[in-house]
Amino acid sequence: MSSGDKLFGRLLNRQPPQPSNSADTPSVQRVGLQLHLNDEGRVIQLSGPLRHLLAQQIPGAQAPHLLDYLMPHSGLSVEGAPAEWQGQSLDLDFFSLGEHPLHLRGWVQPLGESWLLQLIDIGDLLLERRQARSREQCQLLAAQISEQLRLCSLTRLPEVLAEQLQGLAQRFQIPCIAMALLDEQAEGWLIHQHYTAFDAPGLWEIDQRLGTGLDSLNGSAPQQLIPSEHPRLQGIFGNAEGFAVPYHNALGVVAWLLCGFYPAQQRAPDLSERDWLQLTAALAGPLLERLREHQHHLQLERLESLQALLGTGWWEVFSDTAEVQLAPSLADTLNLASTRLPLHDWLEQIHPADREELTIRLQTLQDEGAPLLLCVRLHRPDAAQTPIWYRLQGQALGIGRNRRLVGFMLDISDIKNQEQNAAAAHARLDNLIASSPAVIYVQRYVEGALQPTFFSDSLLPLLGWSLADCAAGALVERVHPEDRDGYFERTRQLLREGSVRARYRLRDSRGDYHWLLDEAKLLRDDLGLPVEAVGLWLDVTEATLAAEKVKQSEERYRILVEDSPAMICRYLPDLTLTFGNRPLATYLECQPEQLPGVNLGSWMSPEQREAFLQRLSHLSPEFPVSTAEINLQLPGREHAWWVWSDRGVFDEQGRLLEIQAVGRDNTEVRRAQQQLTQSAKMATLGEMATGLAHEINQPLNVMRMAIVNVLKRLSNGDAQIDYLTDKLNRIDAQVQRAARVVDHMRVFGRRSEIEQHPFNPAQAIEGTLSLLSEGMRGKGVELRVSETGFEVQVRGYVDQLEQVLINLMVNARDALLSKREADREFKPWISVYAERDEYSVRLWVEDNGGGIDPRLLERIFEPFFTTKPVGVGTGLGLSVSYGIVENMGGKLSVRNSTEGARFCIELPIVADDQITSVARPE
Ligand code: ADP
Repeated sequence: MSSGDKLFGRLLNRQPPQPSNSADTPSVQRVGLQLHLNDEGRVIQLSGPLRHLLAQQIPGAQAPHLLDYLMPHSGLSVEGAPAEWQGQSLDLDFFSLGEHPLHLRGWVQPLGESWLLQLIDIGDLLLERRQARSREQCQLLAAQISEQLRLCSLTRLPEVLAEQLQGLAQRFQIPCIAMALLDEQAEGWLIHQHYTAFDAPGLWEIDQRLGTGLDSLNGSAPQQLIPSEHPRLQGIFGNAEGFAVPYHNALGVVAWLLCGFYPAQQRAPDLSERDWLQLTAALAGPLLERLREHQHHLQLERLESLQALLGTGWWEVFSDTAEVQLAPSLADTLNLASTRLPLHDWLEQIHPADREELTIRLQTLQDEGAPLLLCVRLHRPDAAQTPIWYRLQGQALGIGRNRRLVGFMLDISDIKNQEQNAAAAHARLDNLIASSPAVIYVQRYVEGALQPTFFSDSLLPLLGWSLADCAAGALVERVHPEDRDGYFERTRQLLREGSVRARYRLRDSRGDYHWLLDEAKLLRDDLGLPVEAVGLWLDVTEATLAAEKVKQSEERYRILVEDSPAMICRYLPDLTLTFGNRPLATYLECQPEQLPGVNLGSWMSPEQREAFLQRLSHLSPEFPVSTAEINLQLPGREHAWWVWSDRGVFDEQGRLLEIQAVGRDNTEVRRAQQQLTQSAKMATLGEMATGLAHEINQPLNVMRMAIVNVLKRLSNGDAQIDYLTDKLNRIDAQVQRAARVVDHMRVFGRRSEIEQHPFNPAQAIEGTLSLLSEGMRGKGVELRVSETGFEVQVRGYVDQLEQVLINLMVNARDALLSKREADREFKPWISVYAERDEYSVRLWVEDNGGGIDPRLLERIFEPFFTTKPVGVGTGLGLSVSYGIVENMGGKLSVRNSTEGARFCIELPIVADDQITSVARPE
């Protein structure tokens, strides 16, 4: 039996097959064969042990030729006659009775008359050579496969593996081939990659789970699998013959090359067990390595991204070179240019406050192997930035000289900062509670009673007690005797209703009482039974006292307002009173309670009210106060004058909410002023008496003349009707003239009206002239009056303006007359004219009386200043005039011109739109 047979016997995993002709074939030594040939090459005699294995082509032929024993291709080597074959070695393949032809080698030599062909069996030799070649090819193939798998990129790996499987399948005619790997997750085998010939049935697919059936196989050699013998593997190979080659490494069998529908020894007889193992190893070895590499790569990638995400990374310190190696991601987040750097540079990254500790801890780690765990801050140039915190953990690996220091850094800024914020907030809260006038307490519910079990730290500073001082009963004793009932009720209410709010006094350690606002809540368990009360004491002593004070001061304020002689009130922007004090009520002849709701405007004329509202509209948060003299018409009573101060109260948007006002009755003063004006007026009239006499005398004279003439005519008897008519008309005209003067005097002599009205100042000039012109002319004073030529309105009293003009003209007349006394030739004149601009009108009264001594200019408006002899001048004329003009919102001034005094009355013009229909003159 050849070694090849033995091999296949093993491959088949069964006993070597019995030769089919074993019964007929004698057991012979397969050593050699001798053939005696005649000159033609016919076989004369056969000898040697191999002769029993020879098969004749045409069995039973007489004197067969050597060629009859040879396979056709060997015939070529022995063409011709034996004599020609001498001296050469002949390799001849003989038909044999066995399965395989006989490969023999020999030579021819003469033997007497015939030829002797001696041959020996070289079958083994050939087989070995073929196997050697096949092994060589196999090795080459394995090397190629392994190289392909090793060198391809990871992404192409599955593709390359498939290509290699396909190559193997095609080369060794394997219908289905697959690589099965251990499935780590599922504890079994998994088809990793496979190839199926196009005409073969599909046995496998990628990632197919195979279970653990393969474990039952012997893992050290290739296995031929017969379904009947391997029922457990039927699921894997179907119902056909299979072939499985294991691959194992240090961990044991980790891969199987599976071949389906494959009788290996028939299809690839030249492949030895070793070749199969080698091919499988060429596939599985690099594949597993690459897969591990891939896993590693993924792991690394995951680790890297995780590190980057977490802001973490490993580090390793090399103490011999005083260097540190950092994970790239870590070096990146720390803004370091390289991943390996001097230890010193690394420590420089740490905040100085933490650096020393880290240095020492690293040293301890190096020296003693004590694990390192530290939270450090990074050193940032800008101290105001929020700190970046790292948790630094490290350990020592190995011992002695081989000791390695490795660890990681983890960004914990978020946690740390939150922690710090929380701690700060906590501290603030603690601090707040401790320093606030509040005490948090807990009282435990014990059989219907509440016993203090906790007080916040603020108890001591607030009341000077500790928890121990408040043991059962002690608390009640400290409650102010007057408040005890309230305190007991508080506890009852708390237990009854679950929450309570009370206020009582507690005595502190010094014996002083504190007003406490007590708010408590009852906490119950799942069954609704009281467990404890949680509450808060707020020291409201100050607030209570302050409230008391406010109450007192409010009372004082109220008394002040009530008892004030001034009229005090509050009213809304629409002038409705919301409050008025007693003096106001008294003034208005009613009770203070009746005041709210009354409208202030109802006591004012429409004009007054409008002016009043106008004034209020100018109040603003910046200028909230306005003072004016207002005039009221109280029903059934005389006019009242109040000096009135308003203060606006505004909301945040600057809207006027209400007005607080203080008023003082000024009627008396006003009345006195009016009387003064009136007496001044009367004085003027008195002064004017001479002029007036002349004024009236003139028409009387004319009338007398007329009457005398008429009487003369009548006595002569030639009184014609026409003549009489003419005379009577003249008399009538003079009567009218005199009546006009008297009328105007009567008007002028009347008291001024209470309210101002708009009027045309030209009216006043006219009135003045009607009273004075005749008298002036009588005294030889020339009146130069210019027409105003414009229409304006001023506000005030026409008679008072007239009085001013009369004063000025009479003063001028006096100055002129006294000058003429000195100089008979002197030609006195008074000029009256008016001019206007946009806002005001100016009335001028000018004379050529030489003017006023400049030293007296300042004083002439003072009351009782006069340069006239006693009994002549009153010294009131200009002073009253000044007051009148000022009251009309105007100004009275004087200057000396080249020839005399020049007085100016300047009055504001009332704009047309400010003249209400009520006030508009007829
Ligand atoms: P009275 O006329 O009673 O003296 P007034 O107040 O009217 O009082 O005048 C004050 C003084 O002003 C006069 O005494 C006079 O000296 C001076 N005065 C007023 N008007 C003129 C004027 N037109 N020319 C010169 N002096 C004048």
